[in-house]
Amino acid sequence: MDERLIQSAFRELRSAKHVLVVSHIRPDGDAVGSLIGLGLSLQNLGKEVQMVLSDGMPKIFRHLPGSDQVKHRPTGSFDMTLVLDCSDIERTGSSLSDNPIPDVNLDHHPTNTGFARYNLVDEKAVATSEILAEYLPKFGFPISKQVADALLFGMITDTLGFRTNNMTPKALQLAAQLMEVGGDLPRLYQRGLLSRTFEAALYWGAGLSGLKRDGRMLWATLALEDRRIVGYPGNDDADLISLLSTIEGADVAIMFVEQGNGHVKVSWRSQPEFDVSQVALNFGGGGHAAAAGASIKGELNDIQANVLAITKSILEL
Ligand code: AMP
Ligand code: MN
Ligand code: MN
Repeated sequence: MDERLIQSAFRELRSAKHVLVVSHIRPDGDAVGSLIGLGLSLQNLGKEVQMVLSDGMPKIFRHLPGSDQVKHRPTGSFDMTLVLDCSDIERTGSSLSDNPIPDVNLDHHPTNTGFARYNLVDEKAVATSEILAEYLPKFGFPISKQVADALLFGMITDTLGFRTNNMTPKALQLAAQLMEVGGDLPRLYQRGLLSRTFEAALYWGAGLSGLKRDGRMLWATLALEDRRIVGYPGNDDADLISLLSTIEGADVAIMFVEQGNGHVKVSWRSQPEFDVSQVALNFGGGGHAAAAGASIKGELNDIQANVLAITKSILEL
């Protein structure tokens, strides 16, 4: 991270009065945590802040204070626009509305395309929330208990509870600092990683019943019909991919989730020797070496065959 660049960006942010903060479509815990963490901190400085997610706030994150402020679309005009946890501008969906090139792109994805005036990308950070936990206090932006909870939530969820292979002592130290100002680690851990609905458990069952393996590659599929039968309300995999990646011998785990819009959401997870972000890029997606995703247009069976063949070939599995 270029310290001078981030310092200039935050200096501009200090003097901005109307601020728009957005994050990515299909928001995860880090998208939501970094959005609310920064949004509330700016509000505590008396700024007028709009926090926007194109897909709105998912139900599972509504326990976070401030989540009720998040809107689907921005209204009015802004002195400054910030995009969090997005590797490319398409990931913002329609959250920027007709606002021009964003001022700040704050992220930790190695596949970030650098689409803003200030591109602040720290690939070593385990979460965008970690970057905020480091720099907000450095530049005099307050971290209240609510801000700490939001940022800690982003760090916990992106690292699956501080256990992904990109974990660093620095991330743990920053998480400890968030706890010192009131971040409630056990509660956030429970809400973010452990508790799930009955329908999600049934949905996992549907996915696990079709689990397949080919050498070091392992995959599962969730079709629209599976969701309908069990009554699962989301269009995601209920994080089944994290379970797949714990199965012995799965150097690369892949999840296929059929979408209602003629697309299939594909997620990859891998052991350290394999860089799945390169495979995802090949399909118009992106992500990290060990966790990547893409949304691919087409029919489920065709996409599955193609993705399996190309993953196998690129990673020489
Ligand atoms: P997921 O499989 O959706 O949990 O995503 C794993 C990682 O890949 C996350 O870091 C996402 O930000 C990234 N990712 C997922 N889908 C896409 C996409 N369509 N384009 C770019 N990055 C993605
Ligand atoms: Mn994210
Ligand atoms: Mn993230």
